[in-house]
Amino acid sequence: MHILEESPIGRAKATIQGIVQGVGFRPFIYQLAQERQFKGYVANTAFGVDLEVEGSLSAIEDFLRDIELKKPPLAEITLFETVFLPLKSYQEFTIEESRSDTERFVLISPDVSICDDCLRELLDPSDRRYRYPFINCTNCGPRYTIIKDIPYDRDKTTMHVFKMCRTCDEEYRDPFNRRFHAQPNACWDCGPRVSLYDHKSDLVPCNDPINDPIKETVRLLKEGRILAIKGLGGFHLAADATRDQAVALLRRRKGREEKPFAIMSRDIESIKRYAYVTRDEERLLTSPRRPIVLLRKKEGHELSQEISPRNKNVGVMLPYTPLHYLIFQGDFLALVMTSGNMTEEPIVIDNQDAFERLSSIADYFLIHNRDICLRSDDSVLRVVDGVPRQMRRSRGYVPVPIFLKWEVEPILACGAELKNTICLTKGNCAFLSQHIGDLENLETVNFLKLTIEHLKRILEINPTIIAYDLHPGYQSTHFALEQKGVRLIGVQHHHAHIASCMAENGVEETVIGLSLDGTGYGLDGRIWGGEVLLCNLGDFERVCHFDYVPMPGGTAAIKEPWRMALSYLHHTYHRKLMDLDIDFLKSLDNNKVNVILKMMEKGINSPLTSSLGRLFDGIAALIGLRQRVKYEGQAAMELEMAIEENGDSFYPYEISEDDPNWILKHEPIIKGVVRDLKEGLSQGRISAKFHYTLRLCMYLNEFLFLQS
Ligand code: ZN
Ligand code: ZN
Repeated sequence: MHILEESPIGRAKATIQGIVQGVGFRPFIYQLAQERQFKGYVANTAFGVDLEVEGSLSAIEDFLRDIELKKPPLAEITLFETVFLPLKSYQEFTIEESRSDTERFVLISPDVSICDDCLRELLDPSDRRYRYPFINCTNCGPRYTIIKDIPYDRDKTTMHVFKMCRTCDEEYRDPFNRRFHAQPNACWDCGPRVSLYDHKSDLVPCNDPINDPIKETVRLLKEGRILAIKGLGGFHLAADATRDQAVALLRRRKGREEKPFAIMSRDIESIKRYAYVTRDEERLLTSPRRPIVLLRKKEGHELSQEISPRNKNVGVMLPYTPLHYLIFQGDFLALVMTSGNMTEEPIVIDNQDAFERLSSIADYFLIHNRDICLRSDDSVLRVVDGVPRQMRRSRGYVPVPIFLKWEVEPILACGAELKNTICLTKGNCAFLSQHIGDLENLETVNFLKLTIEHLKRILEINPTIIAYDLHPGYQSTHFALEQKGVRLIGVQHHHAHIASCMAENGVEETVIGLSLDGTGYGLDGRIWGGEVLLCNLGDFERVCHFDYVPMPGGTAAIKEPWRMALSYLHHTYHRKLMDLDIDFLKSLDNNKVNVILKMMEKGINSPLTSSLGRLFDGIAALIGLRQRVKYEGQAAMELEMAIEENGDSFYPYEISEDDPNWILKHEPIIKGVVRDLKEGLSQGRISAKFHYTLRLCMYLNEFLFLQS
């Protein structure tokens, strides 16, 4: 006979913080506790989740380990504290109602793509939610975009107008159901519905109002029509990505000449028909965050050339809402799914607004009656050397914070002008907003203000410090300077770039920071952009930068890279540039050239810049790739695309020790490019040499620092 040695009985109390509410955390704890026959409770608190368990100490150890190991897919634990206490002799294990404290700090989950369980039910004819476009559960569905206030309960979301039917309500209340406390829970009987309208805002009559709007949508897309489709974070404009006419029409109507369109395909197999997908890229594409991932197109693909003209890459995402999956039952290779807006404006989220603003673009509207509280564009990532790099951090990622290594005061950082996002801090969390856009029109500026107010409310942050870009003309700076009763701190643009990078990587030491950028307001009032800063989080010293050259015509020089090419040539050869025998100069109108040269020589409307973005533009123009850009960054992108093969030849470069800091000279680079042009070297080879030269310049910088 064996006598089992029993482990002693004890009580443990755990405090857990992070994304632990609205993600099925309490039922998960409940089940883990039940399996071990623990007594105690689990409860939501203002900060996260509290729980107490009584049972054998060894089982408790095991239980605590399982919480970390087996937590629900959407949960993120940022703090996990346990104490052992004297027994209280609980009689059972219970899930307690939310405990409300005075201060609340609960992380909100981002929007999450439909999970496999829900997808299975969606396509199962015997399921009561068969083909229901709003199916969701505790592990999936909308979150951030439907939350109006906290705590995250249904009445504080845009689902509050839908009263759950009895069956849904039972699921919602049952701790063992995977829809327990799924706030957007709904079904055919009680939830939101889709409907189809034409561009005159007239309802398209359907015999079967349940299935027909989507089937009709598929038919219209196959016909080459453009549809505005309401999604999770806003409207998309959709068209069949294999039909040139449809895509070209969409470009014309949207006023978007060449900037690439994002596309969506049903599955990885479809994507592999037109693009290369590495394992890392596949992992990113299929993650519940479902970002747009930049992929390299295959030769001879079936996509329309209009999707991303003169671009070797294409931005692709997988479906992430049940509605997307239903549309892809229509067997499309790919659909254009671009933000539903006129170029430059924020993405449309409201039905009425969609009819007003998109009726000149879309032929039809597939809309629904679940409101989007806050818009959120699709995120864009690119895998470089196996590491995902954020190009636009928005839906699926926001509002997950960046965790800092230290606690900070509540700060609101208002961001810059182009591709603006804002940031709010609380404790050791830095919450970045979704992509707001270019603050060049009233709509986007209003969206900036709305986002700040919304995030302050749902994160309960009352900033005592407001940080702003030093550029006096930025709308975000104007907004900051209007605020009263707070400390205002101006931050230099490139110092902000490097400091954010440091914060994201938990670096506190002094660093050599490279900020290679297009435009940022410098301390000397000039336009900085090719900067090497010796800096810590609070301060910086500008130790090296690209030489200043004039931007003839100011912003016109950004839109017309040929002006920059002329500026670099003038900087290098002065008036002797006229003797150069290169195609670039022959292609220009002599009178125009003379005007620009005079402008620069007299300093008329020719601000000085050390921008690296402008150097890319200038080289692209000089070698005949692009004289005018249709969207920001186009010339630089095309210069990169042009690279034929990576070699190890490069241009001479020079760093001069001009007082007070080192200057990276472009003359040797420009002279090298001109020489190569005369010798008939291809654009691709010149581009490769130019890129390689810049890499070496940057290494040289580091080297010089270490020497000094
Ligand atoms: Zn689900
Ligand atoms: Zn229902």
